[in-house]
Amino acid sequence: MAIFRRLRETGGRETREDEKKRTLPETTTRRDGETSSAKISAETYEKTIGHMTETFGDVMPEEQRVRIDIEREEKKPVVLSSEEYSQRFPKKDPSVLGHYDTEGRIYMREGSPEVIRHVTTHEALHLTSYNELDDTDPHRAVYRSGIREAAYENGKLTEDSNRALNEGITERYAMQELQRRGEVTSCWAVNAYPEAQRKAYELEGLVGSRTVQEAYFGGRAEQLKQEVIRLNGGDETAWDRFSRNVDVLEYSSDPEKIKQARLELTVQRAEMIAFKESERHKDDHNL
Ligand SMILES: [Zn+2]
Repeated sequence: MAIFRRLRETGGRETREDEKKRTLPETTTRRDGETSSAKISAETYEKTIGHMTETFGDVMPEEQRVRIDIEREEKKPVVLSSEEYSQRFPKKDPSVLGHYDTEGRIYMREGSPEVIRHVTTHEALHLTSYNELDDTDPHRAVYRSGIREAAYENGKLTEDSNRALNEGITERYAMQELQRRGEVTSCWAVNAYPEAQRKAYELEGLVGSRTVQEAYFGGRAEQLKQEVIRLNGGDETAWDRFSRNVDVLEYSSDPEKIKQARLELTVQRAEMIAFKESERHKDDHNL
């Protein structure tokens, strides 16, 4: 479990406030007996997990549904004042709004009801996504969360794949869920992983929403990768190039690298659209 701890600590399960974030005024009127942040978070957590298992339960492996049921009961989210949060998690950047702790519990900073709803929904999505820890090899452990895959050798992170895309997909589902519940102000209260979220949206348009759902909730990431490879005319490097470029967009601070990644992603997207078009025409002839 030590590796797991380390993974959880260094993992990307964070909702960041973007610098360009739109700060919205609190729209909830404070009045006597007003619902506390903890209660708002607990309700949001229940609603999100309930709806995700209801909607995507059919693509989840049985053991995952069991795990979700257990974690749902045992790990209710904890809301702390910003000072308390910084004291307890001094390594967290002040822009981090919430995260999973070493035991998989959700902690978040106190905020407006809209921010609390957004952060809770995002973190609850991580809980419902596919999770797997393969530590059968004593020197190498592989941890999968959604489509993210992190490999640790002797406790050191050696590979970290699909990190930004996994956050983008998480945030996309979180925003969809907030909108579905009519919590539109909450949906736009936090602008987390904007680049990756947009790429996740474009990816879904290319491969279909079912393929993304099966990868994220059902652990069938390989199927998603293979579909992207197919849309790139069988180029085996296509998925890795795509995913690494999204990491650059979201995590790099080098403007040249970001520019290059954006250009490559634009070209790759145009090629995939052209491939799909040619396929469609082929179908037309077959009719
Ligand atoms: Zn996250």
